[in-house]
Amino acid sequence: MDLPPFARRSTREWQAADAAHFLHPFTDHQALATKGVRVITHGDGVYVWDSDGRRIFDAMSGLWCVNVGYGQGALIEAAAQQMRTLPYYNAFFQTTTPPATALAERLAAVTPAQFRHVFFSSSGSEANDTVIRLVRRYWDLMGQPERKVIVSRLNAYHGSTMAAASLGGMAAMHTQGGLPIPGIAHIDQPHFWAHRHGAAKGLSREEFGVVAARWLEEKIAEIGPDKVAAFIGEPVQGAGGVVVPPSTYWPEIQRICDRHGILLVSDEVVCGFGRTGRWWGCETFGTRPDLMTFAKGVTSGYVPLGGVMVGERVARVLIERGGEFEHGYTYSGHPVACAVALANLDVIEQQQLVQRVREDTGPYLAQQLANLLDHPMVGEVQSCGLMAAIQLCRDIPLRESFAPEIAIGMACRGHCFDNGLVMRAVGDRMIVAPPLIMTRAQVDEMCGLIRQALDRTYAQAR
Ligand code: PLP
Repeated sequence: MDLPPFARRSTREWQAADAAHFLHPFTDHQALATKGVRVITHGDGVYVWDSDGRRIFDAMSGLWCVNVGYGQGALIEAAAQQMRTLPYYNAFFQTTTPPATALAERLAAVTPAQFRHVFFSSSGSEANDTVIRLVRRYWDLMGQPERKVIVSRLNAYHGSTMAAASLGGMAAMHTQGGLPIPGIAHIDQPHFWAHRHGAAKGLSREEFGVVAARWLEEKIAEIGPDKVAAFIGEPVQGAGGVVVPPSTYWPEIQRICDRHGILLVSDEVVCGFGRTGRWWGCETFGTRPDLMTFAKGVTSGYVPLGGVMVGERVARVLIERGGEFEHGYTYSGHPVACAVALANLDVIEQQQLVQRVREDTGPYLAQQLANLLDHPMVGEVQSCGLMAAIQLCRDIPLRESFAPEIAIGMACRGHCFDNGLVMRAVGDRMIVAPPLIMTRAQVDEMCGLIRQALDRTYAQAR
């Protein structure tokens, strides 16, 4: 692999430069200093390599984004060609570029029928910030300016800007910086395993799904129905631990939103573009969102791009009555990002990735993960398409967790890394979201590596 001149350094040199200058996102720098940063130098397919030349199976697709895998020539070529033609022009002031408008048209074609318009951003966080602006503008234009509150869920992840982190329900984020901002409320997540001693006790998964959805109705009653503007949720909570909701959950949420006229927002930043085995998570779970945010998989992470699909209910009001919408980013509709997204959509369609996940690799992954249930430390496995969770637990019949100080998830994650596998830990839940191009043989390989990591973690924890 040919590396540019700036990249030719030893691991130690990288670690020294990194420790001296780079403040990393979501990183404890004291902890990082003890080990030194891991330097990833290149990738191919489902694998990446580090600066010591070790091959690593990337079971997280980077950060849930490299859906078409590393090294897709069509995306690389699209970026280079667009950079040569027109590296940048904006979409403000009655202007566009061919890739931006072509992508808007293409997205309208691959999203549910209610979506005909898109607003572009560069990230999922900006897309969710945009949702707050859009939702509030919509209700102002509808003559109901008192409808301001957006209801979200605990442990949701909607991004890291002030507004997106407020929409999210991550306690650790809220304690830093006095979040959430006003106008955001949270209900609990539909996490059957986590609620086994509480709300889910004695209930079937499906019964619990209805109970969990009705927390929204209770919250609406508490706030006042005339003050609630929207409900936002990830179809499957990703960073919250790949929490696949009971099948009864989303239909009941839809019913409650309809009943109160509340806008439904589906955060498809992780679930979009085939991750769940349909183009969109809302299609897998049968909801009709009014707004839908996306990022990551739209370009498979090759360049930053995000956006909001705006359903006709909102778009018509905004376009016909709104005048100028005082909102936008320098990179809204960036031509290089949009050109890469178009090439990415071509790959998804040509390789039939959505269908493959739905009919082949998704069910096969579920089957292979179910084999892990014989492991003495695995309490449950859950998957949806190509995203999955493995719940670690100390005593399976009693469903007893490990003591928090053991940090079993982090220990398991460490064994994965040492064994050439990237897997993420959310508390005691190990999660994967591998590239959608993965083959059955690679599912086997990944599950083999997972079992080895579980064995090593178990041997250490006993
Ligand atoms: N929404 C969800 C569901 C996410 O998982 C993420 C990021 O992981 C975001 C939004 C934020 O996206 P970004 O990091 O591109 O701002």
